[in-house]
Amino acid sequence: MKYNSTTDKNIVVTASQAIARGISSDGGLFVPVEIPQYSIADIEALTKLDYRGRAKKILADYLDDFTAEEIDECVEKAYTTEKFGSDDPAPLSYQKFGDIDMNILELWHGPTSAFKDMALQILPHLLTKSLKKTTDKDAVILVATSGDTGKAALEGFKDVDGTKIMVFYPVDGVSPMQKRQMTTQEGDNVAVCAIKGNFDDAQTGVKRIFTDDALIKTLDENGYLFSSANSINWGRLLPQIVYYFSAYANMVNDGKIKLGDKVNVAVPTGNFGNILASYYAFRMGLPINKFICASNSNNVLTDFISTGTYDKNRSFYATISPSMDILVSSNLERFLYHVTDGDDKRVKEWMTSLKTNGAYSVGSDVKEKITSIFTGGFCDDIKTKEIIGEFFNKYGYLCDTHTAVAVSVYKDYVETTGDKTPTIIDSTASPYKFSKAVLESVADGDTLPADEFEMVDLLSSKTSTDVPAPLAALKDKETRFTNVCDKEDMARFVLNTLGVK
Ligand SMILES: *Cc1c(COP(=O)(O)O)cnc(C)c1O
Repeated sequence: MKYNSTTDKNIVVTASQAIARGISSDGGLFVPVEIPQYSIADIEALTKLDYRGRAKKILADYLDDFTAEEIDECVEKAYTTEKFGSDDPAPLSYQKFGDIDMNILELWHGPTSAFKDMALQILPHLLTKSLKKTTDKDAVILVATSGDTGKAALEGFKDVDGTKIMVFYPVDGVSPMQKRQMTTQEGDNVAVCAIKGNFDDAQTGVKRIFTDDALIKTLDENGYLFSSANSINWGRLLPQIVYYFSAYANMVNDGKIKLGDKVNVAVPTGNFGNILASYYAFRMGLPINKFICASNSNNVLTDFISTGTYDKNRSFYATISPSMDILVSSNLERFLYHVTDGDDKRVKEWMTSLKTNGAYSVGSDVKEKITSIFTGGFCDDIKTKEIIGEFFNKYGYLCDTHTAVAVSVYKDYVETTGDKTPTIIDSTASPYKFSKAVLESVADGDTLPADEFEMVDLLSSKTSTDVPAPLAALKDKETRFTNVCDKEDMARFVLNTLGVK
């Protein structure tokens, strides 16, 4: 199994090289040259395995320069019952919203209470093994975060030998709980810095550092190389494919569907990583009917799906679902590559146009291909709160702001299309990461305490739900990181942290 760049097929690497490098030298993203094919019998075999067994099978099919023992070790270390609270790290919760079935795939039972743990608990193991196969240098992991990736990456990489990790977050763009999670992070190889800008500025800054030849050379001379824990890294996406197969297998085992039946997926989307993982599952043979791409007011993807034009020249909104406050969805590039059956020249044209004009149009042939399987919708903050309130107060299920966006867009979809296909709805974070907005939604009109942890306690008593232990523990942790830098100064922060001139 080889990987090539989305923007130049002549750049071909092994799986471990793709993971170790994070991004291709031409600025493109690594994609598998061929996608493994699963028959219904293969999917049936997965129904007999637990999550870890399913993960081992799928990872092995993509990482052919890893031994079976190596994959075993990565999976066993990542998805422990201790870290995820049960034997199934991605359980389904079968709910109803009125007469609409909501098969909620809860992806937030890991150590940082967001779905990013599903990938970032295993990525450090995949990455350290990939590095051993390809280089003798230490990896400097740079992360741009809209809130959840940063903490999940810090937690995954803390004190991992041969790595240093630095996280950049938008100074006013994350929730108080997300900020507290990151600024109190423990570990000797970690650093955190707020930047004066939004998530896209942080992401662009990190991408610029990754492709800065002079900087790469300086690091090289000091025994380091850059790598990425953002979803541009293949090692982030691959583990996410697993939970779509696992959810499908669980629904078969629970008698919700029959083997071979089609399902829809509804995904609250920002960087297009999570929904892209479901598209890989589909291309591998998982019977998926429709992809429902849910956005908040930053609805650049909704517009793209309906018009075929991607245009980031628009207002940016700081919403109550901050992990989706993104105008440049990096992983769309991989999707465009696959949906055009690997047309690297066109993908390069579009990405160049995005860089220079902030926009591109894919043409009607590609647009039609996309709309035959994708539908997009969005939900603003007011509607998000209404949905959280109604889902909890009427139907007894408490969800976070991001999940609510997907629930809302899915509900609209069912009401307009009448489509009865059973649907997997991704729940991407614990409500306790966004206590204020969630409390305001379920306890309309109450006066709320100002302190974050008093809000957490109030949410727990009001809804009779438990606060995830790692979030409760943050209350007494010391703040370690208070740096704020201009977006132009990110490279300097990296060099200073490494002690390199
Ligand atoms: C990251 C994140 C998203 C968006 O996921 P993408 O893979 O970037 O599309 C949605 N919800 C939460 C809670 C997140 O942390």
